[in-house]
Amino acid sequence: MPCQRCGAPTLSFPTPADLRAHLPDDRAGATICTRCLAVAPSDEPPSDVPDFRPVSDAFPRNEEAAVALACLLALLDSLVLYRDEIDAVATYAETHGTDVLRFLERLDADDDLKPHFDVARRTRQLEQLI
Ligand SMILES: [Zn+2]
Repeated sequence: MPCQRCGAPTLSFPTPADLRAHLPDDRAGATICTRCLAVAPSDEPPSDVPDFRPVSDAFPRNEEAAVALACLLALLDSLVLYRDEIDAVATYAETHGTDVLRFLERLDADDDLKPHFDVARRTRQLEQLI
């Protein structure tokens, strides 16, 4: 299904049960846009975690870390509202061996993306939060 914001192709992924509780929507999966990074809930995700690198090389190879970072992007849009959730999801990503701030810096530097939010600004805000 194309992105509702920009019409670019999306990648669909299952949301792990331990992360679902922290997400704005508790559906089984979500989609992420390969261009603007908008995340939308999905009722019919694949059962396996996809490779997120078609979205950006900034995503790590570790599946748990990659899916946690994709979930984090769903929350970053409303940083103030989802403070605790962001903290929980970022911690989950870090326990799976990823550096969240470094990931966001790499996303911001990816010229193939046209993020729908100001990645650099959100990174600075997140830095103060976690
Ligand atoms: Zn999009």
